Amino acid sequence: MVILPADVAIIGAGLAVSLETVLRLIDIEKSETALALALHRQNIPCTIYESRSNEATEVASGVVLTPNRLRILDDLVVLSRIKDRCWLADHRTYKNDEDVTTRKTLAANEDLYGFKDHRLWRRILLMEMKIMLEERCIDIVYKARFGGIIAEDETGVHFLINGEIKRASMLIGTDGTVSTVRKYIDPDIRPEYTGTVGALAHIRRDSVRWPYADYEPQFTLQGKPGAFFTMPEDPKAEHNAGRRQGTTAGPANNEDTKGGVGIDDMSCLFRVGMQKEVDDTLSNQRSSAS
Ligand SMILES: Cc1cc2nc3c(=O)[nH]c(=O)nc-3n(C[C@H](O)[C@H](O)[C@H](O)COP(=O)(O)OP(=O)(O)OC[C@H]3O[C@@H](n4cnc5c(N)ncnc54)[C@H](O)[C@@H]3O)c2cc1C
Repeated sequence: MVILPADVAIIGAGLAVSLETVLRLIDIEKSETALALALHRQNIPCTIYESRSNEATEVASGVVLTPNRLRILDDLVVLSRIKDRCWLADHRTYKNDEDVTTRKTLAANEDLYGFKDHRLWRRILLMEMKIMLEERCIDIVYKARFGGIIAEDETGVHFLINGEIKRASMLIGTDGTVSTVRKYIDPDIRPEYTGTVGALAHIRRDSVRWPYADYEPQFTLQGKPGAFFTMPEDPKAEHNAGRRQGTTAGPANNEDTKGGVGIDDMSCLFRVGMQKEVDDTLSNQRSSAS
Protein backbone atom coordinates (compact mmCIF):
# COMPACT_ATOMS: atom_id res chain seq x y z
CA MET A 1 0.00 0.00 0.00
CA VAL A 2 1.31 3.44 -0.90
CA ILE A 3 1.20 5.96 1.95
CA LEU A 4 0.53 9.39 0.51
CA PRO A 5 1.85 12.60 2.07
CA ALA A 6 -0.91 14.81 3.48
CA ASP A 7 1.01 17.91 2.43
CA VAL A 8 4.35 18.77 0.85
CA ALA A 9 6.81 21.57 1.70
CA ILE A 10 9.36 22.58 -0.94
CA ILE A 11 12.42 24.67 -0.03
CA GLY A 12 13.62 27.05 -2.75
CA ALA A 13 11.85 28.52 -5.79
CA GLY A 14 14.86 28.44 -8.12
CA LEU A 15 15.20 28.04 -11.80
CA ALA A 16 15.82 24.44 -12.54
CA VAL A 17 14.71 21.98 -10.00
CA SER A 18 12.12 23.43 -7.72
CA LEU A 19 9.53 24.82 -10.07
CA GLU A 20 9.95 21.99 -12.53
CA THR A 21 9.66 19.52 -9.66
CA VAL A 22 6.51 21.14 -8.34
CA LEU A 23 4.94 21.41 -11.76
CA ARG A 24 5.78 17.77 -12.34
CA LEU A 25 4.32 16.78 -9.00
CA ILE A 26 1.12 18.67 -9.43
CA ASP A 27 0.57 18.67 -13.18
CA ILE A 28 -2.82 17.13 -13.75
CA GLU A 29 -3.05 16.16 -17.41
CA LYS A 30 0.53 15.49 -18.34
CA SER A 31 2.49 13.99 -15.49
CA GLU A 32 2.83 10.26 -15.41
CA THR A 33 4.31 10.04 -11.94
CA ALA A 34 2.29 8.17 -9.35
CA LEU A 35 2.92 11.00 -6.92
CA ALA A 36 1.41 13.56 -9.28
CA LEU A 37 -1.72 11.50 -9.73
CA ALA A 38 -1.85 10.90 -6.01
CA LEU A 39 -1.40 14.58 -5.21
CA HIS A 40 -4.15 15.44 -7.63
CA ARG A 41 -6.54 12.72 -6.57
CA GLN A 42 -6.01 13.40 -2.90
CA ASN A 43 -5.85 17.16 -3.38
CA ILE A 44 -2.60 17.31 -1.42
CA PRO A 45 -1.60 20.88 -0.56
CA CYS A 46 1.92 21.99 -1.41
CA THR A 47 3.81 25.10 -0.24
CA ILE A 48 7.09 26.50 -1.58
CA TYR A 49 9.29 28.48 0.83
CA GLU A 50 11.70 30.89 -0.88
CA SER A 51 14.24 32.94 1.07
CA ARG A 52 14.37 35.82 -1.44
CA SER A 53 11.62 38.34 -2.09
CA ASN A 54 9.26 38.16 -5.06
CA GLU A 55 11.05 41.19 -6.57
CA ALA A 56 14.55 39.72 -6.25
CA THR A 57 16.47 39.90 -9.52
CA GLU A 58 17.71 36.83 -11.31
CA VAL A 59 21.22 36.50 -12.72
CA ALA A 60 20.81 38.83 -15.73
CA SER A 61 21.71 36.23 -18.28
CA GLY A 62 20.34 33.46 -20.41
CA VAL A 63 20.11 29.74 -19.97
CA VAL A 64 20.62 27.03 -22.57
CA LEU A 65 17.92 24.39 -22.51
CA THR A 66 19.22 21.15 -23.95
CA PRO A 67 17.01 18.34 -25.37
CA ASN A 68 16.59 16.37 -22.10
CA ARG A 69 15.38 19.44 -20.23
CA LEU A 70 13.25 20.55 -23.22
CA ARG A 71 11.46 17.21 -23.20
CA ILE A 72 10.45 17.80 -19.56
CA LEU A 73 9.41 21.39 -20.24
CA ASP A 74 7.44 20.19 -23.27
CA ASP A 75 5.64 17.57 -21.11
CA LEU A 76 4.78 20.28 -18.63
CA VAL A 77 3.45 22.57 -21.40
CA VAL A 78 6.06 25.19 -20.48
CA LEU A 79 7.92 24.98 -23.78
CA SER A 80 4.97 26.09 -25.92
CA ARG A 81 4.76 29.23 -23.75
CA ILE A 82 8.42 30.23 -24.10
CA LYS A 83 9.65 28.85 -27.42
CA ASP A 84 8.97 32.06 -29.40
CA ARG A 85 11.41 33.86 -27.11
CA CYS A 86 14.30 31.44 -27.63
CA TRP A 87 17.41 31.48 -29.78
CA LEU A 88 17.74 28.06 -31.45
CA ALA A 89 21.05 26.39 -32.25
CA ASP A 90 22.25 22.94 -33.18
CA HIS A 91 25.97 23.64 -33.68
CA ARG A 92 28.85 25.02 -31.69
CA THR A 93 31.53 26.87 -33.62
CA TYR A 94 35.14 27.22 -32.53
CA LYS A 95 37.46 29.87 -33.96
CA ASN A 96 41.08 30.77 -33.41
CA ASP A 97 42.39 34.31 -32.97
CA GLU A 98 42.99 34.54 -36.72
CA ASP A 99 39.20 34.19 -37.20
CA VAL A 100 39.59 30.74 -38.74
CA THR A 101 36.79 28.27 -37.90
CA THR A 102 38.69 25.34 -36.43
CA ARG A 103 35.73 23.16 -35.51
CA LYS A 104 31.96 23.06 -35.91
CA THR A 105 30.35 20.39 -33.72
CA LEU A 106 26.78 19.17 -33.62
CA ALA A 107 25.50 20.08 -30.14
CA ALA A 108 21.81 19.12 -30.30
CA ASN A 109 20.79 16.86 -33.15
CA GLU A 110 17.10 17.52 -33.77
CA ASP A 111 16.66 14.30 -35.80
CA LEU A 112 18.07 12.21 -32.94
CA TYR A 113 16.84 14.10 -29.87
CA GLY A 114 13.78 15.92 -31.16
CA PHE A 115 14.99 19.42 -30.25
CA LYS A 116 17.63 21.99 -31.03
CA ASP A 117 19.21 23.78 -28.06
CA HIS A 118 17.01 26.68 -26.92
CA ARG A 119 18.46 29.72 -25.17
CA LEU A 120 16.45 32.48 -23.49
CA TRP A 121 16.72 35.02 -20.67
CA ARG A 122 16.43 33.01 -17.46
CA ARG A 123 13.99 35.49 -15.90
CA ILE A 124 11.50 34.76 -18.74
CA LEU A 125 11.61 31.04 -17.98
CA LEU A 126 11.29 31.58 -14.24
CA MET A 127 8.47 34.13 -14.65
CA GLU A 128 6.50 31.82 -16.97
CA MET A 129 6.80 28.88 -14.55
CA LYS A 130 5.71 31.10 -11.65
CA ILE A 131 2.63 32.16 -13.64
CA MET A 132 1.85 28.48 -14.24
CA LEU A 133 2.11 27.77 -10.51
CA GLU A 134 -0.23 30.67 -9.81
CA GLU A 135 -2.71 29.30 -12.36
CA ARG A 136 -2.68 26.03 -10.38
CA CYS A 137 -3.11 27.89 -7.06
CA ILE A 138 0.28 26.80 -5.70
CA ASP A 139 1.66 29.19 -3.09
CA ILE A 140 5.19 30.50 -3.01
CA VAL A 141 5.95 32.05 0.38
CA TYR A 142 8.66 34.65 -0.21
CA LYS A 143 11.19 35.96 2.34
CA ALA A 144 10.83 32.58 4.04
CA ARG A 145 14.24 31.16 4.97
CA PHE A 146 14.54 27.50 5.81
CA GLY A 147 16.75 27.17 8.91
CA GLY A 148 16.97 23.43 9.44
CA ILE A 149 15.08 20.31 10.45
CA ILE A 150 13.99 19.99 14.08
CA ALA A 151 12.63 16.46 14.01
CA GLU A 152 11.17 13.88 11.68
CA ASP A 153 9.25 10.64 12.04
CA GLU A 154 7.06 8.47 9.86
CA THR A 155 4.22 11.01 10.03
CA GLY A 156 6.21 14.04 8.90
CA VAL A 157 8.92 16.64 9.35
CA HIS A 158 9.20 19.61 11.71
CA PHE A 159 11.39 22.36 10.30
CA LEU A 160 12.26 26.02 10.80
CA ILE A 161 11.11 28.85 8.52
CA ASN A 162 12.36 32.28 9.67
CA GLY A 163 12.85 30.73 13.11
CA GLU A 164 9.25 29.52 13.32
CA ILE A 165 8.43 25.80 13.50
CA LYS A 166 6.44 24.44 10.54
CA ARG A 167 5.31 20.94 9.77
CA ALA A 168 4.70 18.98 6.59
CA SER A 169 4.28 15.32 5.77
CA MET A 170 7.07 15.52 3.22
CA LEU A 171 9.87 18.03 2.68
CA ILE A 172 11.69 18.39 -0.64
CA GLY A 173 14.91 20.41 -0.77
CA THR A 174 15.59 22.30 -4.02
CA ASP A 175 17.60 25.11 -2.46
CA GLY A 176 20.50 25.25 -4.87
CA THR A 177 24.23 24.58 -4.77
CA VAL A 178 24.79 25.71 -1.19
CA SER A 179 21.82 23.74 0.10
CA THR A 180 20.79 23.87 3.75
CA VAL A 181 18.48 20.87 3.34
CA ARG A 182 21.38 18.80 2.02
CA LYS A 183 23.36 19.59 5.20
CA TYR A 184 20.74 17.65 7.14
CA ILE A 185 21.18 14.58 4.94
CA ASP A 186 24.98 14.78 4.80
CA PRO A 187 26.69 17.55 6.84
CA ASP A 188 30.08 16.75 5.26
CA ILE A 189 29.13 17.50 1.64
CA ARG A 190 30.26 21.00 0.70
CA PRO A 191 30.68 22.77 -2.63
CA GLU A 192 34.27 22.61 -3.80
CA TYR A 193 35.99 25.32 -5.80
CA THR A 194 37.48 23.69 -8.90
CA GLY A 195 39.70 26.58 -9.92
CA THR A 196 37.62 27.67 -12.93
CA VAL A 197 35.96 31.08 -13.00
CA GLY A 198 33.93 32.93 -15.63
CA ALA A 199 33.31 36.66 -16.19
CA LEU A 200 30.06 37.46 -18.00
CA ALA A 201 28.67 40.59 -19.69
CA HIS A 202 25.99 41.51 -22.24
CA ILE A 203 26.03 43.74 -25.26
CA ARG A 204 23.68 44.71 -28.11
CA ARG A 205 24.94 42.98 -31.23
CA ASP A 206 24.44 46.08 -33.37
CA SER A 207 26.76 48.05 -31.10
CA VAL A 208 29.73 45.93 -32.19
CA ARG A 209 31.72 46.44 -35.41
CA TRP A 210 31.90 42.80 -36.49
CA PRO A 211 34.66 41.85 -38.99
CA TYR A 212 32.07 41.24 -41.75
CA ALA A 213 28.29 41.04 -42.33
CA ASP A 214 26.54 37.86 -41.14
CA TYR A 215 29.30 37.18 -38.64
CA GLU A 216 28.59 33.96 -36.73
CA PRO A 217 26.49 35.06 -33.70
CA GLN A 218 27.55 32.14 -31.51
CA PHE A 219 31.14 31.00 -31.19
CA THR A 220 34.00 30.18 -28.86
CA LEU A 221 37.21 31.97 -29.70
CA GLN A 222 40.32 30.28 -28.41
CA GLY A 223 43.31 32.61 -28.39
CA LYS A 224 46.40 33.39 -26.34
CA PRO A 225 44.64 35.19 -23.45
CA GLY A 226 42.22 32.25 -23.03
CA ALA A 227 38.78 31.36 -24.32
CA PHE A 228 36.07 33.89 -25.12
CA PHE A 229 32.55 32.70 -25.75
CA THR A 230 29.52 34.54 -27.09
CA MET A 231 25.90 33.50 -27.60
CA PRO A 232 22.58 35.27 -28.42
CA GLU A 233 19.95 35.64 -25.71
CA ASP A 234 16.87 36.15 -27.91
CA PRO A 235 15.38 34.82 -31.18
CA LYS A 236 16.67 37.69 -33.34
CA ALA A 237 20.11 37.72 -31.67
CA GLU A 238 19.70 41.37 -30.67
CA HIS A 239 21.55 40.84 -27.38
CA ASN A 240 24.60 38.68 -26.94
CA ALA A 241 26.19 37.31 -23.82
CA GLY A 242 29.99 37.32 -23.79
CA ARG A 243 31.88 35.18 -21.34
CA ARG A 244 35.51 34.76 -20.56
CA GLN A 245 36.66 31.72 -18.69
CA GLY A 246 39.89 31.13 -16.89
CA THR A 247 41.46 29.53 -13.87
CA THR A 248 42.58 31.09 -10.62
CA ALA A 249 44.18 29.64 -7.54
CA GLY A 250 41.19 30.76 -5.45
CA PRO A 251 40.45 30.10 -1.80
CA ALA A 252 39.17 26.54 -1.91
CA ASN A 253 36.27 26.07 0.48
CA ASN A 254 36.81 29.47 2.04
CA GLU A 255 33.83 30.19 4.33
CA ASP A 256 33.70 33.88 3.25
CA THR A 257 33.28 33.02 -0.39
CA LYS A 258 31.21 29.88 0.17
CA GLY A 259 33.82 27.82 -1.65
CA GLY A 260 33.81 30.23 -4.60
CA VAL A 261 36.26 32.93 -5.62
CA GLY A 262 37.03 36.27 -4.05
CA ILE A 263 37.14 39.68 -5.70
CA ASP A 264 40.94 39.47 -6.08
CA ASP A 265 40.59 36.31 -8.11
CA MET A 266 37.99 37.91 -10.38
CA SER A 267 40.10 40.98 -11.04
CA CYS A 268 43.05 38.68 -11.64
CA LEU A 269 41.05 36.94 -14.38
CA PHE A 270 40.32 40.26 -16.07
CA ARG A 271 44.00 41.20 -15.93
CA VAL A 272 45.29 37.95 -17.47
CA GLY A 273 46.27 38.64 -21.07
CA MET A 274 44.66 42.06 -21.02
CA GLN A 275 47.33 43.88 -19.04
CA LYS A 276 49.76 43.49 -21.94
CA GLU A 277 47.15 44.88 -24.36
CA VAL A 278 46.61 47.92 -22.11
CA ASP A 279 50.38 48.42 -21.66
CA ASP A 280 50.97 48.21 -25.43
CA THR A 281 48.18 50.71 -26.16
CA LEU A 282 49.50 53.18 -23.57
CA SER A 283 53.04 52.84 -24.82
CA ASN A 284 51.86 53.38 -28.46
CA GLN A 285 49.94 56.47 -27.36
CA ARG A 286 53.00 57.80 -25.51
CA SER A 287 55.34 57.26 -28.46
CA SER A 288 52.95 58.94 -30.96
CA ALA A 289 52.56 61.90 -28.54
CA SER A 290 56.35 62.43 -28.21
C1 LIG B 1 26.41 31.97 -15.13
C2 LIG B 1 25.60 30.69 -15.13
C3 LIG B 1 25.19 30.14 -16.33
C4 LIG B 1 24.45 28.96 -16.36
N1 LIG B 1 24.04 28.48 -17.56
C5 LIG B 1 23.27 27.39 -17.59
C6 LIG B 1 22.77 26.91 -18.83
O1 LIG B 1 23.03 27.50 -19.89
N2 LIG B 1 21.98 25.80 -18.83
C7 LIG B 1 21.67 25.14 -17.66
O2 LIG B 1 20.95 24.14 -17.71
N3 LIG B 1 22.14 25.57 -16.48
C8 LIG B 1 22.92 26.66 -16.42
N4 LIG B 1 23.39 27.10 -15.22
C9 LIG B 1 23.08 26.31 -14.02
C10 LIG B 1 21.67 26.61 -13.53
O3 LIG B 1 21.52 28.00 -13.31
C11 LIG B 1 21.47 25.86 -12.24
O4 LIG B 1 21.67 24.48 -12.48
C12 LIG B 1 20.06 26.05 -11.73
O5 LIG B 1 19.82 27.42 -11.46
C13 LIG B 1 19.88 25.24 -10.48
O6 LIG B 1 18.52 25.39 -10.08
P1 LIG B 1 18.07 25.10 -8.61
O7 LIG B 1 16.57 25.33 -8.55
O8 LIG B 1 18.59 23.79 -8.14
O9 LIG B 1 18.86 26.14 -7.76
P2 LIG B 1 18.77 27.79 -7.79
O10 LIG B 1 18.32 28.20 -9.13
O11 LIG B 1 20.06 28.19 -7.22
O12 LIG B 1 17.59 28.01 -6.78
C14 LIG B 1 17.70 27.74 -5.41
C15 LIG B 1 16.66 28.62 -4.73
O13 LIG B 1 16.61 28.26 -3.36
C16 LIG B 1 16.55 29.46 -2.60
N5 LIG B 1 17.14 29.15 -1.29
C17 LIG B 1 18.45 28.90 -1.00
N6 LIG B 1 18.59 28.65 0.32
C18 LIG B 1 17.34 28.76 0.88
C19 LIG B 1 16.86 28.63 2.20
N7 LIG B 1 17.66 28.32 3.24
N8 LIG B 1 15.54 28.80 2.41
C20 LIG B 1 14.69 29.10 1.38
N9 LIG B 1 15.09 29.23 0.10
C21 LIG B 1 16.42 29.07 -0.16
C22 LIG B 1 17.39 30.48 -3.38
O14 LIG B 1 17.05 31.80 -3.04
C23 LIG B 1 17.00 30.12 -4.80
O15 LIG B 1 15.89 30.84 -5.28
C24 LIG B 1 24.13 28.28 -15.15
C25 LIG B 1 24.55 28.83 -13.93
C26 LIG B 1 25.26 30.02 -13.92
C27 LIG B 1 25.69 30.60 -12.58
